[in-house]
Amino acid sequence: MAKPDSTAVPFRLVVHGGAGTIDRESMSAQSEREYRDALTAALVAGRDVLAGHGSALDAVVASVQILEDCPLFNAGRGAVFNADGQNELDAAIMDGRTLAAGAVAGVTNIKNPIAVARLVLAESKHVLLAGEGAERFAASRGAVTVLPDYFFTDQRWADLLRAKRLEENLPDLVRDHKLEVDLDRIGGTVGAVALDMHGDLAAGTSTGGITNKRFGRIGDSPIIGAGTYADNEGCAVSATGKGEVFIRIVAAHELSALMKYRHASITEGAELVMQKIADLGGQGGLIAVDRTGRFAMTFNTSGMYRGTVGASGDRETAIFRR
Ligand code: ASP
Repeated sequence: MAKPDSTAVPFRLVVHGGAGTIDRESMSAQSEREYRDALTAALVAGRDVLAGHGSALDAVVASVQILEDCPLFNAGRGAVFNADGQNELDAAIMDGRTLAAGAVAGVTNIKNPIAVARLVLAESKHVLLAGEGAERFAASRGAVTVLPDYFFTDQRWADLLRAKRLEENLPDLVRDHKLEVDLDRIGGTVGAVALDMHGDLAAGTSTGGITNKRFGRIGDSPIIGAGTYADNEGCAVSATGKGEVFIRIVAAHELSALMKYRHASITEGAELVMQKIADLGGQGGLIAVDRTGRFAMTFNTSGMYRGTVGASGDRETAIFRR
């Protein structure tokens, strides 16, 4: 019988599908089941990679792609609409072993932005490609493209119409930046963080951004250090919530740095970062994992779609705070 490998690191995968005002009272049992099934499918896809000695990077891509393909989430297929009725998608991925990173922003015809972010990491000498240039790069690498109507969902279109109605009727709220808070109530950005059996970390995030966004707005998700970060000496992080605030405190890097330099535990660090977000009026959450397999799923909203699986087969999904 083969001797067990005492040096093997048990793996861990954590996923999220966005934080927001997600209340038990306003969600039907069927809807809850659909979200939990999608989170489970993402966990299973990533777990299969990790259990087969695959890399944390591959696991993150596998999990995020499942959520991008699911119309329930604000990423890939279910991306929200911008003010012009178009979908502009952002995604990023980072390798905690090498600190290599890849990201795309404002892409309109890519089926799986996380896969192209991975290509930017592996096959370009850049970190962040935007708009048409990112689409040309994706085409040159044979990435799967789709027509704009692929991203059409009734729910997201209704969200846009509602946003526009609010904007017309409540211009003061728009001026005071209170409108987005209301519109982002559902969340839906997706992300994954993983620790693989080799002891390496990775993080990835994918989003359609925020409903009714304008002027080429880009959020925190594709900004390395803000919504996505991974460093084997700190932790791997994927964030969700009001991107502008996460950018301003460089939230994902902040958490990793608290662990690396201040030796904060992942729970303490995640709480400190979310407190800083709250102090600036931001709402949202984050998932994180470190090299020991400890993890956090922390949020200051009423809910966050989330789930985790480990090497021992323990698996859980959750949506509400309690
Ligand atoms: N953080 C995303 C953004 O600002 C949105 C979200 O997570 O809901 O683009």
